[in-house]
Amino acid sequence: MLDAVVVGAGPNGLTAAVELARRGFSVAVFEARDTVGGGARTEELTLPGFRHDPCSAAHPLGINSPAFRAMPLDRYGLEWLHPELPMAHPFTDGTAAVLSRSVAETAASFGSRDAGAYRRLVEPFLSKWDTLARDFMSLPLTALPRDPVTLARFGLVGLPPSTWLTRRFHDERAKTLFAGLVAHVMAPLDGFATGAIGLVFALAAHARGWPVARGGSQSISDALTAYLKDLGGTVHTDYEVKRLDDLPPARAYVFDTSPTALARIAGFGDYYANYRYGPGVFKVDYALDGPVPWTAREARTAGTVQIGADSAEIGTALRAASREDRAPDKPFMITVQPGVVDPTRAPEGKQVFWAYGHVPSGWTGDLTDAIERQLERFAPGFRDRVLARATAGPPELAARNANYVGGDIASGAVSGLQLLLRPKLSLFPYGTPHPAVFICSSATPPGPGVHGMSGHNAAKAVWRRLRQHS
Ligand SMILES: Cc1cc2nc3c(=O)[nH]c(=O)nc-3n(C[C@H](O)[C@H](O)[C@H](O)COP(=O)(O)OP(=O)(O)OC[C@H]3O[C@@H](n4cnc5c(N)ncnc54)[C@H](O)[C@@H]3O)c2cc1C
Repeated sequence: MLDAVVVGAGPNGLTAAVELARRGFSVAVFEARDTVGGGARTEELTLPGFRHDPCSAAHPLGINSPAFRAMPLDRYGLEWLHPELPMAHPFTDGTAAVLSRSVAETAASFGSRDAGAYRRLVEPFLSKWDTLARDFMSLPLTALPRDPVTLARFGLVGLPPSTWLTRRFHDERAKTLFAGLVAHVMAPLDGFATGAIGLVFALAAHARGWPVARGGSQSISDALTAYLKDLGGTVHTDYEVKRLDDLPPARAYVFDTSPTALARIAGFGDYYANYRYGPGVFKVDYALDGPVPWTAREARTAGTVQIGADSAEIGTALRAASREDRAPDKPFMITVQPGVVDPTRAPEGKQVFWAYGHVPSGWTGDLTDAIERQLERFAPGFRDRVLARATAGPPELAARNANYVGGDIASGAVSGLQLLLRPKLSLFPYGTPHPAVFICSSATPPGPGVHGMSGHNAAKAVWRRLRQHS
């Protein structure tokens, strides 16, 4: 009898498996796809020699993850590569606001009227970042906060909507960049706790940057898998779990799946019926004949580039996809250009480029033209550089990974109380109606992103149970 079986080899499933194996438990992972990684994979999606990340590409949460930082992943081939700038947000006038490693450079890019307000916002938290990140990512109460005072102060600033937080800025530059940060998790700008989302991304940039992984995000998953195997764990791919009976006998079962799939597999009926999924995304992976011809100089050196002319345009795009059930005319987009720092992704002189915009859940249309029209506003001549493109809307994303229900890459709406309390209003979110079955996917706190912290937190609950019943 195994101590634990993990279903799903995404970053959270692999992290949960490693955490258990490191503590001496026997662990086996079962993954539906033929490769490990879930949302952290790399594939030749377009032309030979072009290595694309079909899902995650930029890793502010990965490099800042307390779980990953406690593992020797560098020994297993993970190397973070830092672009000159973590992120740039270009405007139609050819200038850009930036998120730099330096608070001063970032503040200066917002203009003189907002520079001081930005410094006053981030500096008190930055000096306490490591403790704050651990406390924030361990909510709700899987560990007692190490610095409850700073966490409470962070809550006061972060729990109100991001639109309150950005009232401290006078000009559009800072407001727009912040709106874009909130939109990374597809949260409505006026939603509960959305200020915290923007702040976490900004603090992460100043603390450790927004790197890409050398060779692609697959190297994060490969490093976790190699470490797990060294610890005695096993990984079985091409093994879709449809019923609990498909799995070998174990003392605990840990699911890196959507709550809906878990309820179906484990026979939990409508236990998660109130869990809501959010809008989807439409993703394009490009093979380019050279770098993106951004007008703004800063955008040419940034790993991530946010596209949205101003905060109103970003808000309109988010509302269209999440509340009005239509695709936006001018999508807000997150784009990543790993080639600015990683030459291994494409043949010499060429680049891979990654862009997505938000669309309604399950949307079956084609957003490629709207995405490229947006890109041409900030990088005229972009279309001339395109050698090949691979597109994926909600149906394709959901087919690639069952966790992305309706194309929702956050595996559950990041809005209302569900932003913090997911998949149920419970202080024990990793537990289920069955005492030996646990859930560890990004449908649990701290939510979406490649950070493994949901897996780490769930593993704590699992090893407590295994020790109690040993
Ligand atoms: C287009 C896109 C862009 C993104 N960009 C970023 C980014 O830049 N940075 C970032 O940090 N995050 C990003 N994300 C989000 C990030 O990828 C996810 O939040 C993260 O991968 C969630 O990890 P997870 O382990 O919870 O689930 P997943 O990574 O989704 O892994 C779940 C795994 O479980 C497997 N599985 C599901 N059901 C079964 C079953 N029944 N039997 C067996 N196996 C099963 C799946 O095949 C999958 O491998 C992006 C996601 C997408 C799709």
